Amino acid sequence: MTSILRVGLDVPLDRLFDYRAGDASGAEPGCRVLVPFGPRQVVGVVVERADASELGHDRLKDATRVLDTTPLIDAELLSTLRRAARYYQHPLGEVLHTALPAALRSPKPLPVQVATLLALTDEGRLALDDPKRRRGTRLAALLDLVGEAPVPIAELDGLLPNARAALRTAISRGWIERRGDEAAVRREGVPAPPLNDAQREAADALVAARGFAPFLLDGVTGSGKTEVYLAAIAACLARGEQSLVLLPEIALTPQALRRFRERLGVDVAALHSGLGETERARAWLAAASGDAKVVLGTRSAVFVPLPRAGLVVVDEEHDASYKQQDGFRYHARDLAVLRAHALGVPIVLGSATPSLESLANVASGRYRALRLAHRAGLAQPPALRVVDLRGKALQHGLAPATLDAIAATIARGEQALVFKNRRGYAPVLMCHDCGWSAKCPQCDRALTLHQATRRLRCHHCGFAQGVPRSCPSCESLAIHPVGQGTERLEETLRARFPEVPIVRVDRDTTSSRRARDALLDQLPSAGARILVGTQMLAKGHDLPHLTLVVVVGVDEGLHSVDFRASERLGQLVVQVAGRAGRAERAGTVILQTHDPDHPLLKVLLNGGYRALSTQLLDERRVASMPPFAHFALLRAEAKDSAKLDAFLAIAAASIDDERILAHGPMPAPMPRRAGVLRAQILLEASERTAMQEFLARWIEPLRERPEGKALRWSIDVDPVDLY
Ligand code: ADP
Ligand code: ZN
Ligand code: ZN
Repeated sequence: MTSILRVGLDVPLDRLFDYRAGDASGAEPGCRVLVPFGPRQVVGVVVERADASELGHDRLKDATRVLDTTPLIDAELLSTLRRAARYYQHPLGEVLHTALPAALRSPKPLPVQVATLLALTDEGRLALDDPKRRRGTRLAALLDLVGEAPVPIAELDGLLPNARAALRTAISRGWIERRGDEAAVRREGVPAPPLNDAQREAADALVAARGFAPFLLDGVTGSGKTEVYLAAIAACLARGEQSLVLLPEIALTPQALRRFRERLGVDVAALHSGLGETERARAWLAAASGDAKVVLGTRSAVFVPLPRAGLVVVDEEHDASYKQQDGFRYHARDLAVLRAHALGVPIVLGSATPSLESLANVASGRYRALRLAHRAGLAQPPALRVVDLRGKALQHGLAPATLDAIAATIARGEQALVFKNRRGYAPVLMCHDCGWSAKCPQCDRALTLHQATRRLRCHHCGFAQGVPRSCPSCESLAIHPVGQGTERLEETLRARFPEVPIVRVDRDTTSSRRARDALLDQLPSAGARILVGTQMLAKGHDLPHLTLVVVVGVDEGLHSVDFRASERLGQLVVQVAGRAGRAERAGTVILQTHDPDHPLLKVLLNGGYRALSTQLLDERRVASMPPFAHFALLRAEAKDSAKLDAFLAIAAASIDDERILAHGPMPAPMPRRAGVLRAQILLEASERTAMQEFLARWIEPLRERPEGKALRWSIDVDPVDLY
């Protein structure tokens, strides 16, 4: 028996730590162990067992004890995480700990599986209220007890001994049900609408696929992509297989969960940021045991073990929130593909606005495209209309034609959505007399004015200060907000439409997930109203009464320097536009711009996202940009510019591969944030393998350099943001 455990610890060192198995001799790879680390006892994950250690047996410490009887991270997940750690150049120990829910990173016992509640159903309530019901039985006592308040199953025996038989009776009569954490489990699924031909074809292709098979489900908003997923998941359920569904945080609403639960008729394990640590761990463990047949989660749900996997779904696959922006900088969509490959199951990436990466994979034949070209049911596609702002008398950014269109929508008793991707009142506060403007002292960026709280805030570092009464530079009283954020748009609309309910949705009005869900919950209701918000409004609840969408900040997207800006603008416009006219009523989308003849806008108007993405892909090919080239970004930050320069000079000097093109060292697009200087080197290769080979050689020695230990630096493989 091998006696050395090679353990991944949650430390930023790219190596494993060897321990003598000691009392943890039963620990297999994938099991957690408690081990001494310096003066502390820490949780680690066994990656390998070995006969010998380079350190020599005698110099090793004993592992303290094993925490799992069977591997918590199964063989497939362990091997995929090892590949991911290599691909993203991130220490394996940290990768393993990122994959585990927080509650499982501690040595405490695993949270009890499915601590479900017993709750009275509507029928149970009727039985309880029936004046003729029998009393004095266990069943009657049980109804009385559960009728007062739902009871955790684990507490039943203590509260009412010998009631298990009565419980079985009550459940079989439909009086009492077991309830999950979020909603009652419906045993009978709600019937699906009959799929149309395009949906049928797509669902059949997914159901028929065997082994690893990547699909792109390219379907306009409202075309019924979710129905296709549901049909494929139902087929998995019938085979006893698990499905994993990834959604962006903002799309994983209670409404979405309910739809999956009701339709599939099984409990759906949810994993999102609104859950407590214990609940997350429970959902994770339910997936690991194979009990949870359907797992619906956000980015980090890509790490759940799936011992009986049948299908992986990534909805809104273009969404930038799938990329983790700190620590282990993985892309959940790309990892999902890697996992589906390792699990040997089909994966479907769905979007109304597919990423250029996925479209390129279709073009090269790696992914198979499934198309849903039309909206399901009666819904009409919205009409796109440009409102030319040039020379118009604007009311805080809104053109007269826009305001007229909103008025007409309201008069019809319908809803309008005004979209602006900037929260706060105004992005700039400026002095009319001397030109001074409020800047963040730590970032050199403009401070955003928040009128309701009378604060100037930095959206990059959190710095905040009061609003000065007079110009700090010339003491003039003529300081004015310039430009508009959602708060100001709301004010303008309130003044113009005083009778109409207005709801603003942005990070300021939805500080907690609960507040957000409550706010989003009230949006769909009937009656004239105006919704104002940031991209938080671009997805989420169905809004059946919404017939007008106004995009206020088109020009910012048209004139950005970020190479992904045009792709993002196109996606955003098409996504918000997709919210209009989902029911029988046709919708209109207004794009306000000073540049109505901009070529990208014309392509989008005439050919939609399809034409835009084709053109952008051509441009990227010509310019050797991703997905036709592969990027990695070395970022460094320090208070001291000499340290920054020293480290990046060493990093640049050790680039010795002619297949790698290096840009920099150069200041980051945001050269100072929160008082820290930032600089970077952007690496480019035309082949992914060349980049991988080079990084594997380049990064490790850099980690050893004292110049690198004197500051913070990181490597971002396939960066989404060049910031
Ligand atoms: P997507 O995910 O592509 O945005 P959904 O699956 O949410 O689209 O469907 C949009 C709307 O159309 C939903 O209200 C859904 O119930 C309805 N729908 C989808 N497929 C059908 C169908 N085959 N027949 C009738 N209604 C459908
Ligand atoms: Zn001034
Ligand atoms: Zn700042």
